[in-house]
Amino acid sequence: MSSLTAFFRGKCPQCRDGKVFTHSVTNLKHFRDMHGKCPSCEVKFESEPGFFWGAMYFSYAYSVASFIIIGFFYFSYFVDYSLGWYIGAVISFTLFTSPISFRMSRLLMMYIAAPYRKYKGDYKGKR
Ligand SMILES: [Zn+2]
Repeated sequence: MSSLTAFFRGKCPQCRDGKVFTHSVTNLKHFRDMHGKCPSCEVKFESEPGFFWGAMYFSYAYSVASFIIIGFFYFSYFVDYSLGWYIGAVISFTLFTSPISFRMSRLLMMYIAAPYRKYKGDYKGKR
């Protein structure tokens, strides 16, 4: 499995086999729940305390990008626009996509910033 495929499937960044999250993204009560360790290679996902605080930067970038993209289309294609409708559209979109944003931010943090490649444990080599 390629790294990009494993990322979008929510797989472990080291072995690309074990799932990172315990429940589906559509489960609104448990979409944030993660395994502490990879079920397949047992690498610890949170490599240091507070590691996932950095994922907020990715989430912030996603939100700003969505504000800009929605604003571009909204103010380009609607003649009689109001700021209230734009803000409502942005807030609705952000709330609707927040589970996806949360997961993608954490996965980006894991795939980009974590030192998993240095791990020398029970890695099975399933790439
Ligand atoms: Zn793994």
